[in-house]
Amino acid sequence: MTTSITLHCEKCKREQVYAREADPGIPEMVATIAFSRCDRCDDGDFGTERWLDANGKEVSQA
Ligand SMILES: [Zn+2]
Repeated sequence: MTTSITLHCEKCKREQVYAREADPGIPEMVATIAFSRCDRCDDGDFGTERWLDANGKEVSQA
């Protein structure tokens, strides 16, 4: 189990790492959260968010 989650922006490719403890609602197998936009790329529309495991496989948010 990792203690941090990588936040990846699919638009500018920027990556940030944050402590998993900050968001206990995220399942343990989630290693990366890929956003269609980060805060810097935000153009006012809602972005989408995808959860990926350590192998890059999408994790269901259901
Ligand atoms: Zn971005």
